[in-house]
Amino acid sequence: MHTAGDVRVEERDDPKIIEPTDAIIRLTATCICGSDLWPYRGVEPADHQVMGHEYVGVVEEIGAEVKTVKVGDFVVGSFVISDNTCEICRAGYQSKCVHGEFVAQTIGTQSELARIPHADGTLVATPGQPSSELVPSLLATSDVLGTGWFGAVAAEAGPGKTVAVVGDGAVGLMAVLAARQLGAQRIIAMSRHPERQELARFYGATDIVAERGDEGVARIKDLTQGLGAHSVIEAVGTQESTMQAINITRPGGHMGFVGVNYDVSIPGIDLFFAGIHTHGGPAPVRRFLPELIQLVWDQKIDPGKVFDLTLPLDQAPEGYQAMDERRAVKVLLTL
Ligand SMILES: [Zn+2]
Repeated sequence: MHTAGDVRVEERDDPKIIEPTDAIIRLTATCICGSDLWPYRGVEPADHQVMGHEYVGVVEEIGAEVKTVKVGDFVVGSFVISDNTCEICRAGYQSKCVHGEFVAQTIGTQSELARIPHADGTLVATPGQPSSELVPSLLATSDVLGTGWFGAVAAEAGPGKTVAVVGDGAVGLMAVLAARQLGAQRIIAMSRHPERQELARFYGATDIVAERGDEGVARIKDLTQGLGAHSVIEAVGTQESTMQAINITRPGGHMGFVGVNYDVSIPGIDLFFAGIHTHGGPAPVRRFLPELIQLVWDQKIDPGKVFDLTLPLDQAPEGYQAMDERRAVKVLLTL
């Protein structure tokens, strides 16, 4: 991305092994994330930066110390590099690893090849070579599914719970899928878009609420005997969506927040009197990858349906435009 709104596909030097813990992967597929729209729209600065942080591919070369993946393995990795051995990783917060590094900022996986540091800690090999039909779903585990899943876990979605999901983008839809898998009794998706409402129902939503803001809060209260939901997942990151999520969480309930929230400010007094648990941040996708890969491998879940536009990598600029104009929920780029 040369600057906001200006994405170009260019030839760059092939990455090389630098550290003995590195691996080079040849991408099979990659995609464009909702968070890639922040620099595209000028909310974050962009100055000739590499793009992309979701990836699946085949290991092409490994450093001398890499043990858990080998050349030829099909692998999935998280959007944050992690050693998976430090105290923070072992506690399950690999996205805050002491050796953490955002793939988006320094590596960029909207590319043919990528150097993955801490390959043993970051990459997970699939049980074998996947069929092409499984590739989109495996790619989804790399970020959107892992992020939606963390949102649902952070919100303590589970049996007997009423779950509300704020946001009908890819992560919100994946949070619906996660809540269903975790056994939630009732799942309310907040969405105004007919085609996204349909996808939310496909993934397990039992109710749809189209209203937003105060009206949305009132509608959720109506549906929950005036109490609010037990578990709320915030998957947008705006001021309105954040306050909506806090206000629809019942006292003692849990709000999981996974929408990247620029310039959101929560009045302390509102949070104080809400009396809720809040837990969120950049999702530790690596924690969930082995389980999510297995669910996809066994065809128990179909997160790949969230990709509604597929383009070759060299048409990435069109993919950005389609997502920016909301013509696509999520764009898959093929190599
Ligand atoms: Zn770590």
